[in-house]
Amino acid sequence: MKNVDAAKEKFGKLIFSELERIEDIKEQQEFIDFKKLDRIIIGIAPGDGIGPIIIKQARRVLNLLLKDAIRSGKVELREIEGLTIENRSAKMQSVPDDVLAEIKKCHVILKGPSTTPRATDPWPNLRSANATLRKELDLFANVRPVCIPEKGIDWTFYRENIEGAYIWGNKGIHVNDDLDIDFVVETSFGSERIARAAFEFAKNNGKTNVTVVTKANIVKLTDGNFISACKKVSKDYPGITLEERFVDATAAKLADPEFNQGLQVFVLPNLYGDIITDIAAELQGGLGTAGSANIGTRYAVFEAIHGSAPFLMSHNRGEYADPSSILRATAMLLSYIGYKKQSEKLTKALNICGIEERKIVITSLRKDASTEEYGDYVIETIEKLGDI
Ligand code: NAD
Repeated sequence: MKNVDAAKEKFGKLIFSELERIEDIKEQQEFIDFKKLDRIIIGIAPGDGIGPIIIKQARRVLNLLLKDAIRSGKVELREIEGLTIENRSAKMQSVPDDVLAEIKKCHVILKGPSTTPRATDPWPNLRSANATLRKELDLFANVRPVCIPEKGIDWTFYRENIEGAYIWGNKGIHVNDDLDIDFVVETSFGSERIARAAFEFAKNNGKTNVTVVTKANIVKLTDGNFISACKKVSKDYPGITLEERFVDATAAKLADPEFNQGLQVFVLPNLYGDIITDIAAELQGGLGTAGSANIGTRYAVFEAIHGSAPFLMSHNRGEYADPSSILRATAMLLSYIGYKKQSEKLTKALNICGIEERKIVITSLRKDASTEEYGDYVIETIEKLGDI
């Protein structure tokens, strides 16, 4: 009985903390209008492992594509130091307070991968820096485009990034040796705002359908409410239809052209979104072909979809890491802050270098191009494109 009382007390505290969070986030509703800013600050946080190596190429590309805006002071590239595993371990914080304070002075962040220690790693057991940033900056939407033109696929995924199975991921209750309980959290506010973000994207990009993916036949309350929120929001978007799919069938059939015919935008709770977007990225061709954006009303963080690649670092092949994913994220960042032409130019250059022309290839093997050489190739290609 003592264990049950302790579990009940812990559960009660969790509920109160959640109700407080909901009140806080309700106050931050307005998205930044980048057109109205005198100066847009892009923070560059290299991270660790291969992070600084690939970020170097992204910095070169930003300096080139935003040359005029940087010169006129409309855009500032600002270095954010200290998001390394060494500094995070020394301070015993997944994102040290001073680093977070610097990040909060920026509008958007381009972030290199950051190591999250596992049990066998020589680092303390820190929480993922990404999970901390998502929560601290209220980055509620994870956005991942997946485009495979030859299969007629042009998808954009909106994954809810804070709630679901993740928000209390390290707060499960160990009742006794026979019973452990984890939680799934859904709030009407959280579900409606991710649904609205997906529908807004659809409206602004000429898309005609949004598909909500859940397991609502089994997870009735939280997934059921997620669908209800999508239905409620869809009423404000008359030209856009809402379809419903189950996550197991979606995962199994994602590559089936009949099943996914015509689907354009997906909206998913956190856990399903994590899994489905990884499958979709793999279908597209893996790590180098996708970037990822974490978006909130006040802040947005853009990053590669891969990690810090300790294997490459420990085999002295860090300098051969593929910068394509962070460069795809850079293209997303440019579009997000209103530099759409520059974004399109970078995307076009990446398609030329990685898919169409492939004058040099990058495989992370020493016999092929280094990160720097591949960066040179992308820069040359951008320069050749001139004004598109
Ligand atoms: P990983 O993505 O770092 O590596 C997976 C495989 O892909 C490895 O074989 C690696 O060598 C290769 N790879 C990754 N990026 C590459 C690149 N740019 N070019 C060529 N090959 C590349 O995944 P992991 O090994 O599971 O994770 C390593 C660390 O990164 C862990 O600490 C993990 O927590 C962290 N991580 C961070 C993020 C992030 O910051 N967003 C995301 C995922 C993993």
